[in-house]
Amino acid sequence: MKTVWEKYDAKKIKKVMTFSEEYKTFLDHAKTEREAVDASIALAEKAGFKEFRDPKKVKAGDRYYFNNRGKSLALFVIGENKLEDGMNILGAHIDSPRIDLKQNPLYEDNGLVLMDTHYYGGIKKYQWVALPLAIHGVVCKKDGKTIKVVIGEDEKDPVVKISDLLIHLSRDQLQKTGSKVVEGEDLNALVGSIPVKREEKEEPVKKNILKILKEDYDIEEEDFISAELELVPSGKARDLGLDRSMVMAYGHDDRICAFTSLMAILETKDPDRTSACILTDKEEIGSVGATGAQSAFFENCVAELLEKADSLTGLKLRHCLERSFMLSSDVSAGFDPNYPSVNEPKNAAYLGKGISFNKFTGSGGKGGSSDATPEYIAKIRRILDDKKIVYQFSELGKVDQGGGGTIAYILANKNMDVIDAGIAVQNMHAPYEVASKGDIYEAYQAYKVFLEEMA
Ligand code: MN
Ligand code: MN
Repeated sequence: MKTVWEKYDAKKIKKVMTFSEEYKTFLDHAKTEREAVDASIALAEKAGFKEFRDPKKVKAGDRYYFNNRGKSLALFVIGENKLEDGMNILGAHIDSPRIDLKQNPLYEDNGLVLMDTHYYGGIKKYQWVALPLAIHGVVCKKDGKTIKVVIGEDEKDPVVKISDLLIHLSRDQLQKTGSKVVEGEDLNALVGSIPVKREEKEEPVKKNILKILKEDYDIEEEDFISAELELVPSGKARDLGLDRSMVMAYGHDDRICAFTSLMAILETKDPDRTSACILTDKEEIGSVGATGAQSAFFENCVAELLEKADSLTGLKLRHCLERSFMLSSDVSAGFDPNYPSVNEPKNAAYLGKGISFNKFTGSGGKGGSSDATPEYIAKIRRILDDKKIVYQFSELGKVDQGGGGTIAYILANKNMDVIDAGIAVQNMHAPYEVASKGDIYEAYQAYKVFLEEMA
């Protein structure tokens, strides 16, 4: 199978490159789930979406978004057809693996001040040391004020870092297995070394850091209790490759599918079936909690729309969900020539070969996966082929090599047709991941076709 680059002419390549610039800008402003929600709302409002605030009537053509605690988002473009006839839904997650600060993070040790952390999501911990990290998140004060924090992105900002052991003294460390080389409790970020006053006896360096936090950010030590602060790789998304064909960045998983899905729904106008886009939180830790895909949030949004479009009954809500079609969009494992043995080449996802569908995910004999029906896949093939979208079908690695899950099964549990559709990524869950600009563009096109044509 050819890559997209063999199919594109110069004009198309220019379009693909321009779209990737928009994506890179989004990534630079969306390094946490909260920032992703804020950035998405800004784009949605420009595209005529309004926050759903109990309108008198919901009618065809209306564009609404629902914001769940600033951490997950659902967007809708109301169709001509009745809601109970089902929707075309795009879903992606906006949380990414990272290092969270603990609720009591600050301590001083031998004249250095560190912040203790608890990692979030599946990471190879040894990849997150010895690189510049930025602090992103919020601190919620008792008086109801929320302080937004971004430290370490501006060139003039300081950064923090988690140390690794020098090679010269690593004889014992290097005998350990990969999962133990750097242990979870050793992920402590270095944040300071100047004492507040020379005569100060007790934790003088920590006192100085607290003074800076108070003066510069109005943050006191107890405020960390009601804070959500995330350490993420500092810096911007970059072009990768001398031909600039790829993007290397933090958080492709899964903001790459979130951005492309978002752009697809923002460009949707007057659909027959209602279009929906779910940007969800907590996928990396099991889609749990109020802002995860398992929450009642999305179903509640649909109930609100039904009530105002027509009338809400339990049966109509169930019909709406089970007559819906969904693309659960998440990244797939991109074939890596450095590690070919983990893939079965006929069923691997390749960078540059278009949007990547997984009929199923899971592990150990498809365990835990939502397995899309061939009838549904045939419909998808038809609409994508009609519009000349470049796509591939793949599995996440060789049988019994490992595996992974997505939000697909959660929506499928509402008895709707769902398939995993995403973008092949190299280095998944590393501080910097890699994706092909061609695949980003094909995914965006595929999502648009799905919203418009799926019926
Ligand atoms: Mn993912
Ligand atoms: Mn992931």
